[in-house]
Amino acid sequence: MFEKFKSMFETEEKTNSKRYVSCDYVQHGFNVDYEDIKMCCLNCHEGGGRQILIDNYKGERIDWNKFFKQKREMRELNKKGIILERCKGCILLQEKEWDDEDYISFMVFNHWTQCNCKCRYCFTNEQSDFFNQRKNYNMYPVIKELADMGMIRGGGEIGFGGGEPALLPEFEDLVNLLLDCGCDNIRVHSSGVKYSPAVERGLKESKLMLITSVDSGTPETYTNIKRVNHFNKVWENLAMYASKQGENKYKVKTKYIIYPGYNDNKEEIDKFFELTDKAGIKSVILDLEGGWYEQHKYEVPDYLYDLLEYMEEKTKELDMKCVELYDRANHMKVHREEYKKLRENKEASVSDEAGINAEQCKESEQPEQV
Ligand code: SF4
Ligand code: SF4
Repeated sequence: MFEKFKSMFETEEKTNSKRYVSCDYVQHGFNVDYEDIKMCCLNCHEGGGRQILIDNYKGERIDWNKFFKQKREMRELNKKGIILERCKGCILLQEKEWDDEDYISFMVFNHWTQCNCKCRYCFTNEQSDFFNQRKNYNMYPVIKELADMGMIRGGGEIGFGGGEPALLPEFEDLVNLLLDCGCDNIRVHSSGVKYSPAVERGLKESKLMLITSVDSGTPETYTNIKRVNHFNKVWENLAMYASKQGENKYKVKTKYIIYPGYNDNKEEIDKFFELTDKAGIKSVILDLEGGWYEQHKYEVPDYLYDLLEYMEEKTKELDMKCVELYDRANHMKVHREEYKKLRENKEASVSDEAGINAEQCKESEQPEQV
């Protein structure tokens, strides 16, 4: 699709308007995935996101001139009001004044899959042979080159996903480099099993956010979902990280991914909030399990919407000011009424069909008129 747009772009003049619909990742970002470099990591909107920028990537040196040229071309399309197919419906699209400069301030690191948990919902389960045998590549030299060129700027967002970042041999160096470059909003998604001094530094400087998805309030549920026995260790590490926070006391966040059939009840949620509070953590993130959501997006039962609202209420009770909803939960909140109507219409059309069929049956049971 981009290739098609690209050829359109090449035949037309550049436009100069700076106010238009675009997004931070088109402008100044990328997502390093385990086998390519994508524009972003968003995927649950209509277009599906994750536009590929460099295919089949394994940590090679990047031709930054070519890379930024590609981004400039996308920017020019946005200026003309053209939105890439993959961006359609994305919640990050916004109309505003964009600058015309080449630099990077939004990065997502997802280039490894090794982990010290075995979550049931992990995407690696689908191809466990492939992921178990995969070797990660290093991004430190590539990012160092970008930093040495002065092309990294703070003010955006850096995310570590993975895999467990703290297991990456280059993780400490990479985080320290980004902090040294002035990146002031680094999000590290960690299992919380291994303690990281670089994360501690980022928390002390209030430039890094640690997010740990515990998804449970009891060791039994934790072990059932994560399939490892690190419940107590994780809460100990989280309490330690929380105690190291600098000026901003909302940088350590626990996350609860509602996973239907495993932790979708108020008792588990209440215990999760008790432990979060006890660890000195004042900030949580809520979501619904991605794979499940993809399959049931238009038929999410009411009790799951209610559980999300229940959790939001709990955060208010506990004075947890920084509640955040991740992609699926946000999507649910925005589309609740719309999806409810779709569901009701679907149910109504199913019962109409059942009605018609019943009528047809009755008619066919009538004795033939002679
Ligand atoms: S899918 Fe969304 S975040 Fe990704 S590039 Fe498109 S608009 Fe930006
Ligand atoms: S913590 Fe993340 S990467 Fe590790 S197994 Fe769980 S979902 Fe997968």
